[in-house]
Amino acid sequence: MSRKPIIAGNWKMNLLKSQAKELFEGIKDYVKDYSAKELPTIVVAPVFTSLDVVETVACNCGCGGNKISIAAQNCHWENSGAYTGEVSVEMLKDAGCSYVIIGHSERRQYFSETDEMINKKAKAILAGGLIPIICCGETLEQREAGVTDSHIASQIKAALSGLSNDEIAKSVIAYEPIWAIGTGKTCDADEANRVIAMIRKTVESVSSSQAADSIRILYGGSVKPGTIAEQMSKSDIDGALVGGASLKADSFNEIIANTMKVACNV
Ligand code: PEP
Repeated sequence: MSRKPIIAGNWKMNLLKSQAKELFEGIKDYVKDYSAKELPTIVVAPVFTSLDVVETVACNCGCGGNKISIAAQNCHWENSGAYTGEVSVEMLKDAGCSYVIIGHSERRQYFSETDEMINKKAKAILAGGLIPIICCGETLEQREAGVTDSHIASQIKAALSGLSNDEIAKSVIAYEPIWAIGTGKTCDADEANRVIAMIRKTVESVSSSQAADSIRILYGGSVKPGTIAEQMSKSDIDGALVGGASLKADSFNEIIANTMKVACNV
């Protein structure tokens, strides 16, 4: 099965509106000369306050903006109500989002997000017609203790609990070893591919072989223009979730270009 690659930029808590607009325009300018078939699925995740300005630039006029999908970095699972500071899936859809990143290790670590909360978010995102990008990954201590696979399998089973096979098939998972995020240390591509193949087997164990074949599983953790080609050449790695290198149009566009060299036309 050939899965269309995804290159997703997680802008985290960075960029004011004017900077987000400039970055989005820099990506748009690069992709406008390529067809959707040539390009990977491109996703960018600005902060909530920049969703509007980015959506306005992502117009449908053929300038390339419509080749970039917009993601939110978080959501709440309820539609509306007394949840001060939260944003619902319906609101994100209204703001132009088609993806939502959930379970990022920074949210698990700093905001105490649990597997149960991530599962509720995944259900709400899919019910609202959006696509979850579900993050998982081990700490350095867990890796050194030899519990990487069991930890990740348990995160994945919890996140996907109660989802239908169709819902699982259209979801996205990002394997992000925590020790590789923002550290400049990339996980060895063969090892990332091994863990991602293990995640695919875990998905199969809770759904179907068809869903496991369809679901796109990304690698994240210090991805750079110089690492992506090797990562994308591996059998199970379907793309990348990129933090630091997504904050400059030049490096993000180079990641897109290097992905196209090895793994597009789907
Ligand atoms: C991330 O935060 O999802 C990430 C992978 O960051 P970085 O690329 O900076 O390691």
